[in-house]
Amino acid sequence: MNCCNEKPVIALYSGEKLCKSHFTEYFENKVFKTIRQFELLDKEENLGVALSGGKDSLTVLHILNRLSQQNPKIKTNAIAIDEGIQNYRDKTLEKAKEFCNKNNIKLDIFSYKEEFGLTLDEMLKILDVKPCNICGIFRRYLLNKKSKELKLTKLATGHNLDDECQSILMNQIKNSIEASARLGPKVGIAQDDKFVQRIKPLYLCTEKEVTTYAFISGLLDEFNECPNVSQSFRAKVRDMLNELENKFPGTKYSIVNSFLQTLPLLKQKFKDGAIKVCIKCNEPSANDVCNACVYLEKLRKRVVVN
Ligand code: SF4
Ligand SMILES: [Zn+2]
Ligand SMILES: [Zn+2]
Repeated sequence: MNCCNEKPVIALYSGEKLCKSHFTEYFENKVFKTIRQFELLDKEENLGVALSGGKDSLTVLHILNRLSQQNPKIKTNAIAIDEGIQNYRDKTLEKAKEFCNKNNIKLDIFSYKEEFGLTLDEMLKILDVKPCNICGIFRRYLLNKKSKELKLTKLATGHNLDDECQSILMNQIKNSIEASARLGPKVGIAQDDKFVQRIKPLYLCTEKEVTTYAFISGLLDEFNECPNVSQSFRAKVRDMLNELENKFPGTKYSIVNSFLQTLPLLKQKFKDGAIKVCIKCNEPSANDVCNACVYLEKLRKRVVVN
């Protein structure tokens, strides 16, 4: 079924086909509804958006920036991490800078090279680890640390419904239920001032919807993918879910919707888990020494030995 006489740009899983203007309205309403339904924003915010220059983060920044323009009590800034991935991050960061310049958004960029002494590409030559494991640990570490220094009240990320669905399944497969308790549109189990609260305004939007929105809104004109992504467990789960979704449309929504019903119970179950502070860097950690410091120590030892 078509929405009107205009040419459709997308077919939703319900079978409905939407034209550019009806899809834009549908998509933006869904994001605003997500923000209201899960109370992602307070009346006043000094928001940060974790910007990679890819379709998801540009979309979330574009929408939150429009919200800021309508409501001056919600300030929106961008924060980007340069992991040092040649032929990939350099390109997406150009997009990020271009977008922020054009829209007058303050952008702070922090790099692994400056903060840790090595780029991700250099780290991967030294350590035999899965790229996404080490990359994710250092990125989360820097985002949290820098968001606190910048006095951001919340940090919005571009995670979409597909990302959440993958995380839920990955945690099930690895039997990491406590990690699932930290998922959801508002990340974390309990609020703690060691963490800047992370929020996911695109939580209910599928990857296909975000990609379509980013392209028809002129936020992106080419698709860049990290060269390391194919090595990740996430990519395998992603392909499996896409196959299931093709055969059984609505699978991803069903997984996330049923997860949302159990999420309050999971958060309740793990609410008393104390958040420690790393004895080396003072950042939050599940153990005495955080994962970032463990890897930094390994890298230092290898660099010295070589
Ligand atoms: S795909 Fe993996 S290595 Fe590439 S940016 Fe993402 S987490 Fe880092
Ligand atoms: Zn229409
Ligand atoms: Zn540490």
